[in-house]
Amino acid sequence: PTTLSEKAKKVKSSSTLAITAKAKELKAKGEDVVSFGAGEPDFPTPENICEAAIQAIENGATRYTPASGTNELKKAISKKFYAFNKLDYKPNQIVVSNGGKHSLTNIFEAILNEGDEVIIPAPYWLSYPEIVRLAGGVPVFVRCTREQDYKLTIDQLAAAVTDKTKALVLNTPNNPTGMIYGEEELRAIGNFAVEHDFFIVADEMYENLFYGEEEHVSIASLSKEIYKKTITCSGVSKSYAMTGWRIGYTGSTPDIAALMSSIQSHQTSNPCSISQAAAVEALNGPQYTVAEMHRAFDKRRKFIYKRVNEMPLVSAVEPKGAFYLFVDCSQVVGKEYKGKTIENAADMAAILIEDFKVAVVPCGDFGFDDHIRLSYATSTGEITKGLERIESFLNLL
Ligand code: PLP
Repeated sequence: PTTLSEKAKKVKSSSTLAITAKAKELKAKGEDVVSFGAGEPDFPTPENICEAAIQAIENGATRYTPASGTNELKKAISKKFYAFNKLDYKPNQIVVSNGGKHSLTNIFEAILNEGDEVIIPAPYWLSYPEIVRLAGGVPVFVRCTREQDYKLTIDQLAAAVTDKTKALVLNTPNNPTGMIYGEEELRAIGNFAVEHDFFIVADEMYENLFYGEEEHVSIASLSKEIYKKTITCSGVSKSYAMTGWRIGYTGSTPDIAALMSSIQSHQTSNPCSISQAAAVEALNGPQYTVAEMHRAFDKRRKFIYKRVNEMPLVSAVEPKGAFYLFVDCSQVVGKEYKGKTIENAADMAAILIEDFKVAVVPCGDFGFDDHIRLSYATSTGEITKGLERIESFLNLL
């Protein structure tokens, strides 16, 4: 019978992409929409990186590469892991994929058997549960409250672990909260994983984006035992403004790397040869453009954090990394607008886009339906204008 896959039908489409698409549609109609939806830097890919891609085409790097990536790129990643993350992953422990999302897909396909549990601290990046389910796993959510800076505690981890636990997803710097796990927190979580024998999937996609006193620490760097249990995932999308190029990568034990490489060889073959050449330049070339982007994000971060906390009915914890502000709207929920009760962040986001021409991401799909996410990967002028609109809405409640 021509019935469709039950597994596929259960996948929710990405609400962040839907909100950015809606904002783009309104903009295309000539509407003056401010979007806080972006999950990507608003800067262009640095010129030296684009140049390297053009060179690659001219040099004929337009054919298949090894499925798990070119040697040149794996060496560049290995060098970066060593210098930046204090991690020793040899090229045979590295798999390059079509973006971080694809790296995560490979990880879960390589480690999960049907029914294995994966602990996902909430709030979480909305793709984790879907990727886990598609690989046959069962997401186990643990709610991390504002009082604990939205970070997982050992007591919570101890309560969530069962004999079916296969992995924990740990995302630092965090999307959507902007929080960063410190060394001691990571050590405690890492030791717990070693003791209870499960994997840590360390998503460090925003590893370059930390501010103020905070530093990014890679959990796998904390001990040999933790290293063996961890699969570290990163990529060039956010750090180098290369979201469209689709290059992500993992560092893991050689066994896991071989499994992922084999899976990928049948599903997608190698990631784009030209993008790989560009990623080599991103990692090996001059880093001043990264520093410039970082300075701009930090300035906007301070501004948006201060400004939102001056508004009525909403507030946020200071973000320490990535480029998002996670805004608590629990006091907006229950208020009336145009004779209707605002039930959750999705209602609020719908009003903001329709009546105030501001796109924000409601975080129901991130596990917190009374919070919204504001991306500050947009100019200060746009941020100022957008926040004025949000404030004029809040003043009506
Ligand atoms: N991990 C997190 C936490 C993200 O926010 C994203 C992108 O939004 C990714 C992974 C995936 O990145 P990529 O665009 O390289 O697939």
